[in-house]
Amino acid sequence: MKTTYQNKYPKSLLNKGTGYLSGYSHSLNPYTGCSFGCSYCYVRQMPVSLFRGAEWGSWVDIKREAAVLFEKELRRAKAKGPVTIFMSSSTDPYQPIEQKEQITRSLLEVMVSDPPDFLWVQTRSPLAARDIDLFQRLGDKVRISMTVETDRDEIRKHFTPAAPPIAARLKTLRLLAEADVPAQATIAPLLPSSEAFADILRPLVKRVCLDDYFMGDGSGGKRTRQLGIEQLYKQIGLEEWYQPDAFRMVYERLRAVFSEEELFLSQKGFEP
Ligand code: SF4
Repeated sequence: MKTTYQNKYPKSLLNKGTGYLSGYSHSLNPYTGCSFGCSYCYVRQMPVSLFRGAEWGSWVDIKREAAVLFEKELRRAKAKGPVTIFMSSSTDPYQPIEQKEQITRSLLEVMVSDPPDFLWVQTRSPLAARDIDLFQRLGDKVRISMTVETDRDEIRKHFTPAAPPIAARLKTLRLLAEADVPAQATIAPLLPSSEAFADILRPLVKRVCLDDYFMGDGSGGKRTRQLGIEQLYKQIGLEEWYQPDAFRMVYERLRAVFSEEELFLSQKGFEP
């Protein structure tokens, strides 16, 4: 799907952390819209997508002059109390266009100069590796959470054809580990994976979070049902993976090679 880009000049960037992100003081979205357009993305059903009049995944707004605005907002927020930021809640901060536009990088540069108490970077893009120099400067005030829903790339293609390949994400986790940047492999939402998944992750991370539609969509799976995701499992004959207890098998496989302290379930795995 071709992505249409628009320039926007937002009046604010930092939003209050609410709901699933209530452990954070703020969320931060360098873009509106997301060219990865994942089938299971909850943002599809949010007003920002519903009222757009264009398919989710087909458009991205670029937040121009974001760093100038963010610098002021961050200073003001820090004067009021601890600032913990989740980037991003309704886009991926490493959109393909970020390679050229560097909006996310400009926000990270602001944070290197004036660090928040904590920054969570949620992405599924290997472009995150570009900013390792800035992550290193943030030290233990940052964690990169790399979404790796499965180790099977044909499964990734079925559910999220426009998202980056799994191999590239695993390589990014390796680069982050080599650079000593705190990172997490985030299996969310849980997609059908192979028996080797846990062993593949073991040398790359010291922390894994597992989440599914039933624990993690904030409605016991209702929001996912509305998206018709079950059909995608049926198409490939893997409906048994679309079950509230499917995560147990993957958890046990992980538990065979990771300690209990290294494994997190659902919201616990996203806390600051
Ligand atoms: S990358 Fe995240 S925000 Fe973008 S479509 Fe996928 S789930 Fe939604």
